[in-house]
Amino acid sequence: MDRKTKIIATVGPSLASKEKIHSAINSGVNVFRINFSHGTLDEHKQFIDWARSSKNQVAIMQDIQGPKIRTGQVNKNTILQKSQEINLTNKEVESSDEIIFINYKNLYKDISVNDRVFIDDGQIILKITEKQKNKLKALILIGGELRDNQGVAFPDSKLSVPAITEQDIEHLKFGTEQDVDFVAVSFVRNSDDIQAVRDIIPKDIKIIAKIELKTALENIDEILNVSDGVMVARGDLGVQLPIEKVPFVQKQILDAANRKGKISITATEMLQSMKSSYRPTRAEVTDITNAILEGSDAVMLSAETSIGDNPNRVIEVMSNICKEVDSRNDTSSLLSKEDSKEDSFTTTLARAAVQIADDIDARAIVAFTETGKTPLLISNFRPKAEIITFSTKDKTLKQLNLLWGVEQFPIEKKETFSEMLKSANDFLVKEKKYNKGDKVIVVAGTPPNVEAATNLIRVHNLGDV
Ligand code: PEP
Repeated sequence: MDRKTKIIATVGPSLASKEKIHSAINSGVNVFRINFSHGTLDEHKQFIDWARSSKNQVAIMQDIQGPKIRTGQVNKNTILQKSQEINLTNKEVESSDEIIFINYKNLYKDISVNDRVFIDDGQIILKITEKQKNKLKALILIGGELRDNQGVAFPDSKLSVPAITEQDIEHLKFGTEQDVDFVAVSFVRNSDDIQAVRDIIPKDIKIIAKIELKTALENIDEILNVSDGVMVARGDLGVQLPIEKVPFVQKQILDAANRKGKISITATEMLQSMKSSYRPTRAEVTDITNAILEGSDAVMLSAETSIGDNPNRVIEVMSNICKEVDSRNDTSSLLSKEDSKEDSFTTTLARAAVQIADDIDARAIVAFTETGKTPLLISNFRPKAEIITFSTKDKTLKQLNLLWGVEQFPIEKKETFSEMLKSANDFLVKEKKYNKGDKVIVVAGTPPNVEAATNLIRVHNLGDV
């Protein structure tokens, strides 16, 4: 495996055909993210069907909007001019250079004079100058083109928003019907927000908490305890916090996720210039490299693939950067983990397996898994050996797409450990072209086919069994 860091690509108009989706998969996408802030349910279903019609199994991540505040439809070619005044309303109207619709019920109650309004991740900035009953006036501090359905943030205001909206609940039901592999939850504030989603979706869908609010940072440990992973959502973080704090916050979130053995994703503007340009900037290449060195399992593309000029080229560039970092990052990280009690046994086994693999220079760590927990923990210790995973569960196989360094293959149910071992060995020799005598560490649960019962490490040379 020459790339260990995984790639998430956001779908959108630039990937809107079966051929485009398949060619994105061939270019290196492991997980498609469907942003439920845009598009219709029919369009989402179409993307899922295209992705699933590929012979390569990719995973689907449903990203629910959460209580995100947005503008609505905009009069074509609306350019907001710096130093002009503009009205804000929460009554649905077409926005123009005179009035902007913002879909926030408590707009007049929660927003005060002098509060700033960030539109489109801060591309446009307004400042409230006048407040009357049912009327807000603002000064345009930074102008620009106002586009449809852009996110709106109020970094100076205290908002009274629900954790998940009626629309999110409807979307989660749709995602469950479509059997998505991950749900990314936007604007999480605490563990209750994750629990609210957990109560709606089945247990086998993994939950990724998007960290984009200051409150989420303050509650990062409790959020991690109930989530399967986190996303450093730098777009909103960059407007909710002073932008110079984002690199440190990124490191803080990735460290916390790795300490707790959870999935970690770094997202947003990773190759932003490539929306329209053929080559990335040096700064973008350096940013991706650092995000991987800081411990990201996966890096995410947003507008670059959803509305960019050349999504395949972007995915290839991202893949090449990942490969370069992965080829140099040859030290495993047997860092100390803050395990939850229920996982501490598996964590200890995973750490020991990686330690042994490093010490004897093993070619692979083979893991049999039902839920994906064991390979996640092994991957988290960043072994030098390949991580080859076998599962009987289709959904687990798809979800393993997100884990750093993990290659996953289906296996038929076996009654005994010896049978499992034999089919894994045969597979390594026949399909992966391993040699007789290659050292392999096997991590498994016996008896087979029982969830979360990893209790065995075996060391052997291929051909000895
Ligand atoms: C972000 O804010 O960085 C993010 C990933 O969320 P969204 O794209 O939904 O705004």
